[in-house]
Amino acid sequence: MASGILVVCEHEDGAPKKTAYELLSKARSLAAELGGDVSAVVIGSANAANLGEYGASVVYTADGSEFSSDGTGSWASALAAAIVEADPAVVLGAASVDIRSAFPRLAVRIGAGMASDCTDLFIQDGVLIARRPMYAGKAFADVSISSSVALYSVRPNSFPGAAPVGGSATVSPLSVSHSEAELASKIVGVEAPKSETIDLTEANLIVSGGRPVDSSENFDRLIRPLAEALGATVGASRAAVDAGYAPHNEQVGQTGKVVNPSLYIAAAISGAIQHLAGMRTSRVIVAINKNPEAPIFQHATYGIVGDIFEICPLLTEEAKRQGIGR
Ligand SMILES: Cc1cc2nc3c(=O)[nH]c(=O)nc-3n(C[C@H](O)[C@H](O)[C@H](O)COP(=O)(O)OP(=O)(O)OC[C@H]3O[C@@H](n4cnc5c(N)ncnc54)[C@H](O)[C@@H]3O)c2cc1C
Repeated sequence: MASGILVVCEHEDGAPKKTAYELLSKARSLAAELGGDVSAVVIGSANAANLGEYGASVVYTADGSEFSSDGTGSWASALAAAIVEADPAVVLGAASVDIRSAFPRLAVRIGAGMASDCTDLFIQDGVLIARRPMYAGKAFADVSISSSVALYSVRPNSFPGAAPVGGSATVSPLSVSHSEAELASKIVGVEAPKSETIDLTEANLIVSGGRPVDSSENFDRLIRPLAEALGATVGASRAAVDAGYAPHNEQVGQTGKVVNPSLYIAAAISGAIQHLAGMRTSRVIVAINKNPEAPIFQHATYGIVGDIFEICPLLTEEAKRQGIGR
C-alpha cells in the first residue's frame, strides 16, 4: 500500500532551491504523524546527495539532456517513474512555474487527485488536509484527497525550512522513457532577469510601489533603495508596470506574480482586488498610503498614513542605520 511522502526538489545552478528545504521539513513532520518515509526526486543535473541531511531517505534522480532542453512535458514521465519506485501516498512540490505545468499532466497520467497552490498542510483526524486560497484569496478551502496517491503544490514560504537533521540518502537514478508528444515543446533560450535579488515568487521580503511613484526614476530613488536596504525584492502594482515605471516581471497580482513573503510593504498601492490576489497571504503587510480610507489598510498588519516621498527615504535611512539588509 502506498505510504510516505515524496518531495519534488527543484534546484538552481545545481543547488536545491529554498523551497526544497521548506517542503522536506514539512514532509518530515507530516510523515511523523502519517507514517512512512520521506524521499525526494530531483530532475536534471544537481547536487542531490545533501538532501539526506534534510530528511530524505532516498533521492531519486532523473538526469538527461531532455530535462534541460525540453519544456516540462518530460517531467511528468520522470515523476511517474519516481512514484512507481517510491510508492508514496503524498507527493509535494512547490507551486512554481514548472510544477504548475507538470503536476496536472502527472495527475491525469496516474489518476491522482491534486490540490494546487496550497498555503498550509495539516492533519485532522488522521487525514491530510490542504488549505488553498480561492476567489483571489477572499476565501480558503480545506481539501482532502481520497486517491491512493495525492499531489499537492505548495506556495513558496508557506513553511519554514528547518536546519539539517543529519542522515544520508541513497541516490537512486531513475530510468525514464518519453513519448514523442511529451518532448514536443523545446526551450529555445532562457533570458534571466537582470536583478540579482531573489525571484519575487520565492522572496521572503518584498517592497512594492504603486502608480503614485510616478516615474521609473522615482522607482530607482524611492522603492529600490528601500528594498536594497532591507535585503528585499522589488514588486509593483499593475498600474505602475503599465505606466512603465517597473518591468512586467515585477508585477504582483492576478495578472502578475503570486507572492507569499513574511513581509510585504505596499507603498502607495490602493489595494485593488487584483493586486490583493497576488499578495494577500503575506504574513505581515505594511501599507504606506496618504489616504486613511484606502482599501489596503483593511488588509494591512501595520499602516502608515503618509506620503511615500517622505516615508520611504526615512525607512531606507533607518534600515541602513540598523544594517538590516546586510
Ligand atoms: C483583469 C484585470 C487584472 C488586473 N491585474 C492586476 C495585477 O495583477 N496587479 C495589480 O496590481 N493590479 C491589477 N489590476 C489593476 C487593479 O485593478 C488596479 O487598477 C491597480 O492595482 C491599481 O494600482 P495602484 O494601487 O498602484 O494605483 P491606484 O489605484 O492609483 O492607487 C494609488 C494609491 O496610492 C495612494 N497615494 C497617492 N499618492 C500617494 C503618495 N504620495 N503617498 C502615499 N500614497 C499615495 C492613493 O491614496 C491610492 O490608494 C488588474 C485589473 C484588471 C481589470
